[in-house]
Amino acid sequence: MDRQPLLPAEDVLRFFPAALEQVSSGVILFDDQNTILYFNRAMELISGWPREQALGRNLGMLAPEAMRARYDTRNYPGASNRVQELAATPHDIQLVRRDGSTCWISTTLSQVTSEGSDLRMVLITDVTARREAQARERLLSLGFDETQSAVLITDPAGCIEHANKGFRRLFGFLDSEAAGQFVPNLLAPGRHEPEQIKAYRARLQAGQPIRADERLFRKNGQPLWCSVSTNPIFDDYGKLVNLVIVLMDITRTKVHEVLQHKMLDAMVREVPTVEVMQMMCTEVEKIAPQVLCSVLRVDDGKLRTLAAPSLPDSYNRLVDGVPVGPRTGSCGTAAYTGETVVARDIATDPNWEGISALALQHGLAACWSTPIKSNDGRVLGTFAFYYRQPHEPDSFHRRLVEVIVHLCALALEREEARNRIRRLAFYDDLTGLPNRSLLHAQADQAITAAGHNGQRLAVLFIDLDRFKQVNDSFGHPGGDELLRTVARRLQEETGPMDIVGRLSGDEFVVLLNPCDMATASERSEHLLRMLGQPLQLGEVEIRPSASIGISVFPHDGNNMDALLHHADVAMYQAKHNGRNRVRFYSSEMDECAQERMALEAALREALEQGQLQLHYQPQIDIQNGRLHSVEALARWHHPRLGSVPPIRFIPLAEEAGLIGDLGRWALQEACQQLHRWRLDGLEVPSVSVNLSPTNFHNPGLPDTIAQILRQQALQASDLTLEITEDVLLDGDPTTLQVLRQVHALGVRLSMDDFGTGYSSLSYLRQLPVSELKLDRSFVHGIEADEVASALTQAIAHIGQSLQLKVVAEGVESAEQLRLLGAQGYQIAQGFHFTPALPAPALADWVREHLPTAAVV
Ligand code: C2E
Ligand code: CA
Ligand code: CA
Repeated sequence: MDRQPLLPAEDVLRFFPAALEQVSSGVILFDDQNTILYFNRAMELISGWPREQALGRNLGMLAPEAMRARYDTRNYPGASNRVQELAATPHDIQLVRRDGSTCWISTTLSQVTSEGSDLRMVLITDVTARREAQARERLLSLGFDETQSAVLITDPAGCIEHANKGFRRLFGFLDSEAAGQFVPNLLAPGRHEPEQIKAYRARLQAGQPIRADERLFRKNGQPLWCSVSTNPIFDDYGKLVNLVIVLMDITRTKVHEVLQHKMLDAMVREVPTVEVMQMMCTEVEKIAPQVLCSVLRVDDGKLRTLAAPSLPDSYNRLVDGVPVGPRTGSCGTAAYTGETVVARDIATDPNWEGISALALQHGLAACWSTPIKSNDGRVLGTFAFYYRQPHEPDSFHRRLVEVIVHLCALALEREEARNRIRRLAFYDDLTGLPNRSLLHAQADQAITAAGHNGQRLAVLFIDLDRFKQVNDSFGHPGGDELLRTVARRLQEETGPMDIVGRLSGDEFVVLLNPCDMATASERSEHLLRMLGQPLQLGEVEIRPSASIGISVFPHDGNNMDALLHHADVAMYQAKHNGRNRVRFYSSEMDECAQERMALEAALREALEQGQLQLHYQPQIDIQNGRLHSVEALARWHHPRLGSVPPIRFIPLAEEAGLIGDLGRWALQEACQQLHRWRLDGLEVPSVSVNLSPTNFHNPGLPDTIAQILRQQALQASDLTLEITEDVLLDGDPTTLQVLRQVHALGVRLSMDDFGTGYSSLSYLRQLPVSELKLDRSFVHGIEADEVASALTQAIAHIGQSLQLKVVAEGVESAEQLRLLGAQGYQIAQGFHFTPALPAPALADWVREHLPTAAVV
């Protein structure tokens, strides 16, 4: 296709001065057929083609493959060929080198007329380097502007020279507003210490980039968490010329971190859950300004507002107490199903049917509620976002809620655990009442408040009567049931300002607040009546009773310790006065109580150290003057207090729970004594031991007796037990059983103090007694008093008709003895013969006075 060149090369060289060989631009001369006529040195360098091989060929040889044909004027004559095109619209084109690589050139075409021939010359400049630079720049500016991050280029001092689009988008400043501004002043006004800025500058000057997470502010004041990286740029001479600052929005991640940190920190500091939740809501509402948060707790199947700082109070009050269930708004339903509930538009949402107006009238249009669940899947509460417009949660809100719900669960579970521990520490497990420590704390508060307000209050010390018997008869489950019932009744009968607590065992305390003496009296009598309502324990119906002691603030004490102590003293008095009654404290009682406490301690010691003794008083057969039995009577001589009479220490032993020990001791001691007398050859037919009613509550009594008898080699008939009519009064079912078992052993029972109690004859028939003991008060004065002697006569008849032996006690004179003998009494006992004597003295007395006493 190549044609012969029109001009020989040497002619061409003639046309073109040698200078053209020196220029840096490529020069090609070609004819109207695009045949190359001249190709300078520079062109050789640009294209890689040696001149000899280029001359005479078509210009298309330098064009990319796809373009080559368009240089051929035979295919594209005239204006349609490529050279004409380039002449019309000059622009950079690609040139293909000999080795196939390409470079960018710009061309300048000119007409050269030589000896009538129509020639063209093209000047070629290699523009590859410029094009590459341009492309780089374009990419750079694309990168600079199109990145998500905000990028600032500042002068060495930190004043903005350039800001990218990302910066405008993120912070909202116009270029004109940003230009020249000192970055810290613009993005975090007033938050940088001059020291800190100085330190930053030093680091940058030293060539160290700085990376930090910073809380910055948009133009509109909204906070924004950014990761900021500041890089120093130096010129070739090592001079700091620019700073490149890249800012990335990390608000979302940071929000989670910050929330988490704040809540965990609050939890660790034991901030109350309500406050933690309030704080959390407030933080969340700052980050997500379009939402209103609410945290509800599920309590006993009802919703309870924990925190909802931005919802109207009147709305919160409506929500508080709503039962969890289907279609109870977003939160109630979420708590019910355990699933997230989104009500995009409350007005039309089925879960809000019938109640939507409540929310709508408070300006709440959408509500998205998520259940807060414990580790084991229980719904502890709900967390909700309310919106003022119909709205669905966006991804940011979703992520936020994920984090929050997790934190809420942690906080609520922690609270649960704390409450459990609190309950264990401050509440009585059995009754759920405050225990001693909490009672004291609450009472102290109430007392302080009453002091400020000049009010009175009453402390009631309540002790159940005969609780031990219930425990013994019905076992611990029965006792527990009674305590729970009492606790419930006390709570039912007291108001919200009153305090009810359990001190220990069967002791309860009620603080009536406020309360004067008259009200205290009225209310405590009422309490007694309420406590006395029948209670079914298994098959048996019992009527609980209690003794109540009352102290009144400020009269009887100005702190809980004093008031409680005085109420306790008064309660003892109530017990002493016959139980099931109320007593107010008086200062005389206190003296008694202190004395009693000292005595109680001394008695305990006496029992432990064997300081008690038994004295024996003979009972004489009136008919033949022989010894019938000896009654063992307890004696206590205290080293300091002197002789303490049994009518004093027996009831004390009873109250102090020592009566069981005392009874056992008396039995053991009396039987052992009888055994010794017999060894000594003294004929004592039997010994009579006094037992208290309480001794018969012990189901182990028959065994104890049998064992003692065995140990002392005695027959059951050697022992008589003196019991009083009270034994059946407390209605303890164990008593009768124990009495029968004792009787079955062959031990005789003697009814002591007969005629003083309420006992009816039907009692006597029930009881397996073989002897009646006329109370000594009847004997006193029978010689002179006909009424008295008529009574003793009547009692003798009762004994005879029931075929019981009758014993006259307290016989002080021969006349009395004669009268009683005449009335049918078989046995007599009293000072007429002798008072009770220590064992050796009794032996002497018997040997001396009783002719029939066998002497070995
Ligand atoms: P009790 O069982 O009725 O005992 C008879 C009381 O009358 C004894 O008083 C005795 O010393 C007293 N006494 C005897 N003869 C006469 C007399 O001719 N004239 C007068 N005025 N009194 C006479 P004591 O020893 O002071 O005992 C009082 C009560 O203490 C006893 O009354 C008994 O109920 C109780 N008691 C004594 N020892 C024991 C005991 O070991 N266990 C139990 N549970 N109670 C006991
Ligand atoms: Ca007696
Ligand atoms: Ca008696």
